Amino acid sequence: MNHFPIFLDTAPRTIVLAGGGEAAVAKLRLLLKTRARLTVAAPDPSPEIAAWAAEGRVELVRRAFAAGDAAGTTLVYAATEDEAEDARVARLARAEGALVNIVDNLEGSDFITPAIVDRDPVTVAIGTEGAAPVLARSIKAGLEARLPAALGRLARVGKAFRKAAETLPMGRRRRDFWAEYYDTAGPQAYDAGGDAALRPALEALLDRHLLRADRSGHVALVGAGPGDPELLTLKARRALDEADVVIHDRLIAPEILELARREARVISAGKQGFGPSTPQDEINRLMIAHAHEGAQVVRLKSGDPGVYGRLDDEADALDAAGVAWSIVPGITAASAAAAGIGQSLTRRGRNGALRLVTGHDMTGFAEQDWRALAAPGAVTAIYMGKRAARFLQGRLLMHGAAPDTPVTVVENATHPDERRIPATLRSLPAAVAELAGPAVLLLGLAPRAAATHQPLELEAAQ
Ligand code: SAH
Repeated sequence: MNHFPIFLDTAPRTIVLAGGGEAAVAKLRLLLKTRARLTVAAPDPSPEIAAWAAEGRVELVRRAFAAGDAAGTTLVYAATEDEAEDARVARLARAEGALVNIVDNLEGSDFITPAIVDRDPVTVAIGTEGAAPVLARSIKAGLEARLPAALGRLARVGKAFRKAAETLPMGRRRRDFWAEYYDTAGPQAYDAGGDAALRPALEALLDRHLLRADRSGHVALVGAGPGDPELLTLKARRALDEADVVIHDRLIAPEILELARREARVISAGKQGFGPSTPQDEINRLMIAHAHEGAQVVRLKSGDPGVYGRLDDEADALDAAGVAWSIVPGITAASAAAAGIGQSLTRRGRNGALRLVTGHDMTGFAEQDWRALAAPGAVTAIYMGKRAARFLQGRLLMHGAAPDTPVTVVENATHPDERRIPATLRSLPAAVAELAGPAVLLLGLAPRAAATHQPLELEAAQ
């Protein structure tokens, strides 16, 4: 960085400009926005400059810049549009201790004027050290479009409200308050009622944030259900509505994340069976850090948080950190899958017990009480079982299960692309071979005959 950007207090200063033509007028237009006293030295000033002088907005001396003109000033602009004359002005001004800008002459200048986006009191200065004026213009155009025209007004009213906002504790609380004012509450109030609406909007917003500030941080471990947003519980919806931070698993559908409060920070903490994942310690650290700052954190997990959801790890970590937490249960994949095939998970006379098992655990394919799983009429919902299909098939047959024991594979249960694949132990590996989405294997259950969906004949394909 060769040129260092600073913002100069112009109120107590005089800025001197030498020149009376177009270049001088263009610079003066900018300088007239400041509070500096402006002196223009020009033997033959343009009518605009003469008019500004008549209005008392600039002081005009009708002669060339001379020794003594820069005495006591900080900045001098040489804008005579004559190289030799500009150089003379620069020499004289520097001798009197001023910093000089020669218009359109980067090398000859002590300072340069940046491209400016003006939302006073918010000012954005863009400099490229002369390397790419086109780039500066395009950045400026982009910012002009992005920053609401009312931003300056929002900032001015906001500035006057700073003292009042200090009733909020410093740090996150106060940052959240200002972020909401500038991002949503302020622009909305301005659109609805102009300048006059801003102060009342700030007052109402502060009341709301003061109420919220009395709450301490909390983590809700929330079940998001199998995917269909309509299968969220009312409690889950309310937690999302009130969340400051949402930390979610990879399996959570975007439609569900959209239900989070607009201002909420949404953080993806992906966990994938065999793919990239966020380490559990990092997830714990995030939850605790946000809760300690007073945030209402929603830790959103697919299905039910208590079913293969590492719930205990997280609850233990929260306890150790002294963070209050609660669980909002959700509909687990097994329930959703069984509903999809029109079946009951337990049934009098068939199975009084239901097993939820995982296809693999930390050590690899998971061992089970195979004899119990293989018993006639037994029903088991197998999570994370796709890759273990051959292993499951082998173990179950070895422990006496009939090869034609029904296994129904339900992929993406309750999503628009839910697939239900009726299979048997014999055809199971083929049935799961091409599935890309999460799937539950319902061992011991076939789709109800009366169900309207067509069973896929996978056995024939073997
Ligand atoms: N807590 C979740 C389970 C997380 S483990 C729950 O209660 O459902 C991830 C496994 O859940 C996946 O490998 C898959 O077996 C199952 N699963 C999750 N969502 C599913 C869905 N929509 N359809 C089918 N299986 C799903």
